[in-house]
Amino acid sequence: MISKIRGTYDILPCEVEKWQELEDVIYQVSKLYHFKEIRTPIFEASELFHRGVGDTTDIVKKETYDFLDRGDRSLTLRPEGTASVVRSVIENKLYADANLPLKYYYYGPMFRYERPAKGRQRQFHQFGAEALGSDSPLVDAEMIAYSYTLLKALHLQNVYVKINSLGDTDSKAVYREKLVSYLDKHVENLCDDCKRRYLENPYRVLDCKIDRDTPTIKEAPKPIDDLSEKDKAHFDKVLDYLDGMNIDYIVDKNLVRGLDYYTHTVFELEADLETLGAQATLGGGGRYNHLFKTLEGPEFSAVGFAFGMERLLLALESLNRKRPQESIHAFLIMLGDSVKSEGLELIMNLRHGGLVVDYDFFDRSLKAQFKQAERQNPKFYLIFGEEEAKSRTINIKDAVSGEQESVSLDNLYSTLVSKIQNASSCSGHCSDCAEDCE
Ligand code: AMP
Repeated sequence: MISKIRGTYDILPCEVEKWQELEDVIYQVSKLYHFKEIRTPIFEASELFHRGVGDTTDIVKKETYDFLDRGDRSLTLRPEGTASVVRSVIENKLYADANLPLKYYYYGPMFRYERPAKGRQRQFHQFGAEALGSDSPLVDAEMIAYSYTLLKALHLQNVYVKINSLGDTDSKAVYREKLVSYLDKHVENLCDDCKRRYLENPYRVLDCKIDRDTPTIKEAPKPIDDLSEKDKAHFDKVLDYLDGMNIDYIVDKNLVRGLDYYTHTVFELEADLETLGAQATLGGGGRYNHLFKTLEGPEFSAVGFAFGMERLLLALESLNRKRPQESIHAFLIMLGDSVKSEGLELIMNLRHGGLVVDYDFFDRSLKAQFKQAERQNPKFYLIFGEEEAKSRTINIKDAVSGEQESVSLDNLYSTLVSKIQNASSCSGHCSDCAEDCE
């Protein structure tokens, strides 16, 4: 047997519905915030991520799936979505749009060669969004509000926003020097990973899972304490706007995020939920004012975020939601070969009218067809045999009450629709009303 690759998994038909429900909420919230979807390729030139995400980041150093194609081009399966969106905006000159900021969201699989664990896969899915083309702190606040609204729309509890500012290039340069010289003096106290990376990527040491709670890191200088006046004013406005929007947040001075391109505001949305295990971060993002320049585009400031879909689904498990039993509108039982073609015509008409109808594909007996129908939980059985065909009628049997009625074929659709509507308003076991009836 050929098995799936470590760190990947199948989303089986019995699980797809919860994905679709989550996707639905994402689309609704994205619409509320007036964002449009963008779809970019799953693989790109490796250079895009090396330059965009940053050569010194863990993602690019250790986690990308790089390969040579048959034309000897170095390609990479995308580990994140932002670099591709920026590439697309530059390549398609979308930045020339007068309607700024551009507001795009994306959704799809990402690939990172990480150690698989609960909530951490090698192929996982992200929903992310980017607001491109504005320096305003309003946009930082808007993106945090967008992510916060998503978690509210999902009814998740114990969720909090963590926020910090790294400042722009000048503040970052001043701070970086200060941090490296501090770490130089305390290098002995750092974990092996940080001993290696503190010169290349000193920011990462601040939110290293192993070191972050040690006295060395607690007492280390923090980027927020070295912001220029201008950068501090930007951050203060972001906090002010969040207060205006009634969004609670925690300023976390150690929050830096794993990607090189962030400037100014960075944020994360965490949930304190047992179902998440050790992976409490549902999503995060921040402002990136220079990625366009790095990728040879114009000056174009932007803010983005990304959520892990698998983590959101794990978080949703904490709600212990009862899923309504799946059902279909009707199951057509056909008796005898001679009625099949007319029966199929009925099914087509019902389906074209928007009803979910199924039938037997194995020439089963009447009893076996009923059994098969039961497995699909229909609201109504439709029974169609030679006699019915002759009299141009059909029997409709209510699956709950067992009541049966013979109606003319011409009235089948309208009778069935009105019966379904009546059943929906009271039975409580249909998918349309299960939420209200629970
Ligand atoms: P990042 O792109 O690293 O900022 O990650 C954004 C979000 O994607 C994280 O908060 C996680 O929810 C999710 N994520 C990142 N890496 C993985 C992974 N390997 N498996 C599952 N989810 C992930």
